[in-house]
Order: sequence, then structure tokens, then C-alpha cells
Amino acid sequence: MTRDGELSFRDSVDLMFNRAVRLMDLSPGLEQKIRVCNSTYTVRFGVRLRGKIETFTGYRSVHSEHMEPVKGGIRYALSVNQNEVEALAALMTYKCALVETPFGGSKGGLCIDPRAWDEHELELITRRFAYELIKRDLIHPAQNVPAPDMGTGEREMAWIADQYKRMNTTDINGNACVTGKPTYAGGIQGRVEATGRGVQYALQEFFRHPEDKAKAGLTGGLQGKRVIVQGLGNVGYHAAKFLSEEDGCIITAIIERDGALQCDTGLNVEEVHQWMAKQGTIQGYPSAAFVEDGTYLLEADCDILIPAAMEGVIHKDNAANIKAPLIIEAANGPVTFGADEILRTKGVVIIPDMYANAGGVTVSYFEWVKNLSHIRFGRMQRRAEEARSRLLVEELERLSADQDLGWTLAPGFKDKFLTGSDELALVRSGLEDTMRTAYQAMRKVWHERDDVDDLRTAAYIVSISRVATAYRSKAL
Ligand code: NAD
Repeated sequence: MTRDGELSFRDSVDLMFNRAVRLMDLSPGLEQKIRVCNSTYTVRFGVRLRGKIETFTGYRSVHSEHMEPVKGGIRYALSVNQNEVEALAALMTYKCALVETPFGGSKGGLCIDPRAWDEHELELITRRFAYELIKRDLIHPAQNVPAPDMGTGEREMAWIADQYKRMNTTDINGNACVTGKPTYAGGIQGRVEATGRGVQYALQEFFRHPEDKAKAGLTGGLQGKRVIVQGLGNVGYHAAKFLSEEDGCIITAIIERDGALQCDTGLNVEEVHQWMAKQGTIQGYPSAAFVEDGTYLLEADCDILIPAAMEGVIHKDNAANIKAPLIIEAANGPVTFGADEILRTKGVVIIPDMYANAGGVTVSYFEWVKNLSHIRFGRMQRRAEEARSRLLVEELERLSADQDLGWTLAPGFKDKFLTGSDELALVRSGLEDTMRTAYQAMRKVWHERDDVDDLRTAAYIVSISRVATAYRSKAL
């Protein structure tokens, strides 16, 4: 229990788990085995910086090894603690099972404000943290594969991969020890955007089902829907950008750590993002109203609320005031257990984190497979696919000319049809398929079982039953 009477993140996740297992037929022993976190390693290490030794505290938590490697991001934030890392590791187990990536769940974190250190210092700190984890096989292509999370990105992943390879010079699969790397260092096209892109695919799939929209009191498609986004980092920026530029959503507010921007006719996400990158803040952005107490806007009128910053932002004190009929949890754990109960009784539909932000781990899975197969996706097939399409088009054109049929192909059709799929197209296709398939598994439970009235419980039931099946086939 935290000071404000709210449950801790870990307790919140466990209670959501308990709510689902009560509706399942698992033995108490198996239920307990799945719930508990297998291990958490805490490391305190020193780095000589600015003329003195600075000590840092980091964690790597392994929630479940029913499949290996275990997978989960590394977060850099001052608020990182064991409870949070364990909650996030548990969510990774359920997330990986839900989207059928062959991993157990893990998570890491380092208590640090990354903005307080320059790039060279961050590299020294990251390499030292990685060294501590690598020497204990807590970073390893076959056992434990981290990825980016809050406060980390491609740059940190490239340092980690390089550190692993320096310490394991004969491991031919070294690049697969971490995902989310830049493409020049063994990464994959489409990984940076993946979590936000997954949020977009999740919403597109939700809006394909009239019964699901009806539960939230929504109609029509995404076009014109008013959206509020909290957090314009990797996940929030990409989700808001794609939804506004490709689906016609109107981003009416962006909430950041130092305030919020509001504009009823719609914010230009790319412009705001560039302003933030240059100025380091959203303050002063000229084309929108600035609201100092940004969190207030979580309660503003909109069709879709996207918390994409951090956990616990919708809690017992503000849940009753939330006006959005649909919340999609792009961040991990943004709605506490207490808030979830309040929102359920209000009839708010929540697309849960373990599904909504699974785009990241899905594309990380593709990257890991690419690293193990040592070949870029599409390299063998793309030109063969183009040649086959060209044969067909040329035959149609010949027939038309020979028979004097006067057929002409629609403008642009030929170019589109003749272009084979490159890596980015294949990654997006694989991600879309994953998001659609997982949503359908979840909604089947939601609609078919009378005792399940929300998507979160449905998601837990799907993933826990998959983890249980894996454990049953193991000698424990
Ligand atoms: P990030 O560090 O890139 O961005 C976080 C953003 O939130 C920043 O712009 C920050 O200024 C803002 N922010 C921080 N505290 C805030 C507050 N109190 N109010 C409003 N804004 C605040 O992080 P990210 O990678 O985008 O991750 C965001 C969330 O998504 C986290 O919960 C993370 O666990 C989850 N997630 C990330 C990924 C991924 O691939 N990066 C994958 C799955 C889940």
C-alpha cells in the first residue's frame, strides 16, 4: 500500500491476476507458481565520473521462465524500484503469452535521471550496468533479452550489444542479446515506431467491431474521434502521429510532465514533437493553449484517452472524473486496480496494457529472429515476388493488345503491384496480424463468457491459460 492509500503497482497487477484466476480452473499450486516473480537481482555498482565514484542501483527481474529467453525492457528513471520492476516483469509474461511471442517475462531498471548525465557518461554507466548483468547471464541471446523502455532507446541498446560482444567474442548470435538496436547495429526496420504503431492497429481493430464500440457508446470509425494523449515520448508520439496523420483522429490535448497543450481543432503532433526536441519542453509552443496543471486534462471530454507516459496516473482520486468512454493503455499500468474497479462500474472500456503496448515486444521478436537467422527479412523473396507480378502484368497487357480489348491499368496500380515487400512492409504486416489475432482471442472471451465483463480480465484469462499449459508440460 502506498502513502495515499493506493495499492502498489505490484499489488495492482497481482489483484488483476487474482480477479482473472478466480474465473479459471487452475490448481492453487499452479496459480501461485504463475503469480510469483521467480527472481530479482539487485546490483549496486560504481562508476568514476566527474572526478569521483558515483554509485548506481539497478535491477533485473525474471518473472517467469516457462519459455526462454525471458524478455523485457530496461528503464532509466529515478523512480525505478524493485516493486515496479517486478510488476513490469509480470506484465511482460502475460503480454508475451497474449501476443504469442515465445518468451518468458522479465524487466530491468536503473535508478538514474538520464537527463542529468552527458552522452559519454551515460555510455560508461550503461556499459558497466550491462557488464554486471552479462556476467550473470541476465543478458544473453538464449536466456534474457532486454529492449528499450522509458528513458532508454536505440543508443543504449547498441552499447549493450557491443558490451555483450566484447565479453563473448565467439558467440555468433551475439547481436540477439538485446533488441531495439539501430538498424546499422543489427536492428530491424520499424522497431522504433512499433509500440505506437501497435496502439494504432489495436484501435483500428477495436473499431472494426460494432458490438465492441457499442460497449463504449461509440459509433463510426476513427475519423474525427477526439483523442487526448499523455506522454509524447516514443510510444505516445508515434501513436498520436499515426492516428492523426493516417486515421483522421483529432488530437485535442497532449499532456507532458511540465504541463499540457490543448487545441480543440487538433494539434499538429509532428510540430509539437519538433518543438519539444528543440526546446526541451512543450512550454511556449505557439499554436495551442498551454495548461500548467496538465494532469487535469486526463479528465477532459474526449472519445479516446491514451495514457502513454507511466504507471498509476489514473487512480482512485481521479477515476470517477474521467470522461473518456474508451481508454487505451499505451503505458504499462497507467490505471491502478482501484481506478479500474471505478471505471468498470462507470462502463468505461479499457483496452489493457498487456495487449495495447505489445507492438514493441512483437517487433523485438522479429528482430531477435532476424539476428539468429543472420539475414534481413525479404532479402530472398522480394525480387522473385516482383518478377512473378511483372509476368502477370505483362501477360494482361499482351492479351489486351492482341485481342484489342482496350484494357488500361488504373494509374499507380502497376507500380504498387510490382513492388515486392521490403523489411519494413513485412514487419508492419507481421505486427498488424499479431495485433488483430490477439485482439480476437481476447474479445472471444469477453463476449462468450457471461462472467467476464471487461477486456483486461479476458486478456489475463487468455494469457494465464497459455502460461499454465506451458507449465503443465514441464517437470516442476
Ligand atoms: P519515453 O521515455 O520515450 O517517453 C515518456 C514520455 O512521458 C516523455 O516524453 C516524458 O516527458 C513523459 N512523461 C513522464 N512523466 C510524465 C508525467 N508525469 N506526465 C506526463 N508526461 C510524462 O518512454 P516510452 O518508451 O514512450 O514509454 C512510455 C510508457 O510505455 C512506459 O510505461 C513504458 O513502460 C511503456 N512501453 C514502452 C515500450 C517501448 O517500446 N518504448 C513498449 C511497451 C511499453
